[in-house]
Amino acid sequence: MRAVRVHAYHEPPRLEEVPEPTVSGPHDVIVEIGGAGLCRTDLHIIEGQWAEISGVQLPYTIGHENAGWVTEVGSAVTNVAVGDTVILHPTPTCGLCLACRAGDDVHCENSSFPGIDSDGGWRSTCTPTPGPASKLDEGTNPQDVAALADAGITAYHAVRKAMPLLHPGTHCVVVGAGGLGHIGIQSLAALTATEITVVDPNPEALELAEQIGAHHTVLADGSQVDQVAEISHGGAQVVLDFVGEAGAEKQAPALLKNGGSHFVIGYGGALDLDTIQIVSREINVIGNLVGTYNDLVELMNLAQRGLVTLHTQTYPLDAVHDAIADLEHGRIRGRGILVP
Ligand SMILES: [Zn+2]
Ligand SMILES: [Zn+2]
Repeated sequence: MRAVRVHAYHEPPRLEEVPEPTVSGPHDVIVEIGGAGLCRTDLHIIEGQWAEISGVQLPYTIGHENAGWVTEVGSAVTNVAVGDTVILHPTPTCGLCLACRAGDDVHCENSSFPGIDSDGGWRSTCTPTPGPASKLDEGTNPQDVAALADAGITAYHAVRKAMPLLHPGTHCVVVGAGGLGHIGIQSLAALTATEITVVDPNPEALELAEQIGAHHTVLADGSQVDQVAEISHGGAQVVLDFVGEAGAEKQAPALLKNGGSHFVIGYGGALDLDTIQIVSREINVIGNLVGTYNDLVELMNLAQRGLVTLHTQTYPLDAVHDAIADLEHGRIRGRGILVP
């Protein structure tokens, strides 16, 4: 089989032959890939941003947003069977540590992140996972949901955390209506009654935002802070920043009302905030990492009821380098998906 492997940072990954995976532990599930999401994190991996944090040995197979069909299971696997359609939670966890016991499996002490710190799913056939795989309705096409495994769950997790702040009468600004942002908008619309304003430099992205739940859209043309202030009557209670780089992260606090919360979801930039601003305005900066197993189950419920739809652009695995270039240059609407 073939896989897309990173051999060196700052170099395009290579599509090459690798051995077929086999079950090596009792909890392993082997999944034939039906679709694998292409994520800005993959670009950040290639740029070397994750090298130290993940400590991964090169070369390795990237791809952390995977869905497909079970082909083989380890002796202890009871929740899925051969033939099931599944989506893979991006961070397999132990289920036993205190964080897992508390349902906060994002902070599991024994988790891994296939595609980031170990081999992932950009493959022509199967990927191994130490579990858990979440079973989907029969007939779900994996390529339609694969990116919900990370892009989706991350956006949903942030919305779920922001929910108590977003009672009726509040305003939420979504910065960035790309792969994550468009799931965030739909999750906000499904879970809250907040007024949603979406900011993006791309008019087509704003058009999509309007179709999926945005009440107002603002073109990021330099006047967005003033426009948001006018629409939201002085600022939003919550800013969901799906960009987190290229200046968006520095602008976010100006979009908030006093007492507001800046949820940082996209990354790559740096915050530069005077402590007196944080104190005198009593604003919050909140980090968000992926999501819990339950977040994924809840999001799949919304997806299978048609309340959250992933907008995708598919590429055959052979076109992986075109897909990466399209993502780099902002040419993908919604989410890029590699289909073996
Ligand atoms: Zn991702
Ligand atoms: Zn754990």
